[in-house]
Amino acid sequence: MCGIFAITGSSNQAGNVVLEGLKKLEYRGYDSWGIAVETDQGMVIQKDTGKISSVNIDFPKGKKAVGHTRWATHGGVTKENAHPHRVGKVTLVHNGIFENYEEEKAKSDYEFISQTDTEVIAVLINNEIEKGKDPKSAIMTVAQKIEGRFSILVMIDGESGIWAARRGSPLIIGRGKEETFIASDIPAFLEQTNKVNYLDDDEIVFINGGTAKFFDLNSGESVKKRNIEVSWKVEEAHKGDYKHFMIKEIFDQKETIIRAINHENHQIAKFVEALRQTNGAYLIACGTAHKVCMAAEYFFAEIAGRKINVVAASEMPYFEKFVHDKTALIAVSQSGETADVLEILERGKKSGAKILSLTNVESSSIARISDVHLPIQAGPEKAVASTKATTAQMALMLLCAYADGSGVDNFEESVNKGREVLRTTAGNINDLLNPRYEEYIKDVAEKIVQHDNLFIVGRGALYPIALEAAIKVQEVSYIHAQGFAAGEIKHGPIALIEEGTPCIVLGDDPETISNATELKARGAIIIGVADKKHAIFDEWMKAPNCEQAQSISALIPIQI
Ligand code: GLU
Repeated sequence: MCGIFAITGSSNQAGNVVLEGLKKLEYRGYDSWGIAVETDQGMVIQKDTGKISSVNIDFPKGKKAVGHTRWATHGGVTKENAHPHRVGKVTLVHNGIFENYEEEKAKSDYEFISQTDTEVIAVLINNEIEKGKDPKSAIMTVAQKIEGRFSILVMIDGESGIWAARRGSPLIIGRGKEETFIASDIPAFLEQTNKVNYLDDDEIVFINGGTAKFFDLNSGESVKKRNIEVSWKVEEAHKGDYKHFMIKEIFDQKETIIRAINHENHQIAKFVEALRQTNGAYLIACGTAHKVCMAAEYFFAEIAGRKINVVAASEMPYFEKFVHDKTALIAVSQSGETADVLEILERGKKSGAKILSLTNVESSSIARISDVHLPIQAGPEKAVASTKATTAQMALMLLCAYADGSGVDNFEESVNKGREVLRTTAGNINDLLNPRYEEYIKDVAEKIVQHDNLFIVGRGALYPIALEAAIKVQEVSYIHAQGFAAGEIKHGPIALIEEGTPCIVLGDDPETISNATELKARGAIIIGVADKKHAIFDEWMKAPNCEQAQSISALIPIQI
């Protein structure tokens, strides 16, 4: 994942606008950065390793510019490898992986400056331009050779405008009156415009001033695009006084749970009806969203009496033979662009499966290929480690489970019961999230941070939360953390418990407390997450009682 951003327009500040826009995309990739501006004196490129947030450059005047924040995949983190790459007349930035680049590189006698796969794309396009092809045909020809997912922005010396193409990685066009933007995510240009077009896979776009022309990347034929207005607010995309986006987004949960369930009943009914028409359903997701799906499996089992299979997108190919026209594939993704999930849905659709989805980006690729899509309405989530989108997905899944649990007659009653549980949950979380609580959780965390290992246990819908807690701690705190079903610890993991090993215990029901007792007997320090402090807890992180939504409540202190 990386951030890419371009502008063509009437103002002479293209370089500075791209710099500011890229700073808003830094969450997408941050090991190096680079910007190219076309000026009257020719192309000016600035690039370096390090974070773009600390870059303060006044770029020379120019009306078009492209920029990139890199998340290196091929070639180390060096200035030479940072994008844009310039070869002959071509200046290019790239998000993704050119899988067969070595093959093409071997055929070329060009003296490569970088170790990246990206520079090979620039060489190939420049070769086509030198052969006399126009930019569109040159990019189309090269796109045929690229295996893998990509999005690219291309400027060609002596040609007007900027070209962009995509296969697999997101690109969104922002439409101003006299200027046009292209970015890998909306926050880059949200201050300038909320009117967008989504570039789909295998499409190419040419932007010039206030115009954008779309074509099919394979046939070159013109493509019509829908104009969409996004409802995100500029303030939501800023971190304000918060130290970083993750803590801001944790605190956003004061509002996002309630927003997640702000759907008309008929929209929820549509989701449930689609599910009821099928005779087998799979929840498909990656990473944290996969843990949300696991929690949803419990919600549907307990509340709706429905068994849904949960499969990580990367593992789904082993089960795709069971997908047919009576199957529902339910995708959960924050961005709605998760490549592994998208692939499964595309193939599922071909097999006739019904596609249902929950995403945060309303017009995302996943949303657009779905038969029924429910937006989770969490606002922009910029931290890589998902927090508010996670709980919003859980809330909406819980509401759907209530709706599915209703008979034909008592739909309203059942959905209203779900809303009531979730409203109470939202209120409890609102009360909980204050600076004093944050300080208290920090004190507990300070005790854990000294240890190399952390174990987290839970049962029922709290078991997926134990898994989510573990991946969150691994990714954010760099501590070895593992989550287990509480009843499973005696079958192996308990052997690893030593005097002083911290164990987070989610819940205080008698069975979980009995598991905590076993852990304590081996010397574990028990950090309980529950509404009340139980005598066995050495430390306690409050998670207010939220009944069926307890898994949402229990996640809050873990995120902090
Ligand atoms: N594969 C390219 C590189 O390593 C692009 C990576 C990215 O998406 O930032 O430079």
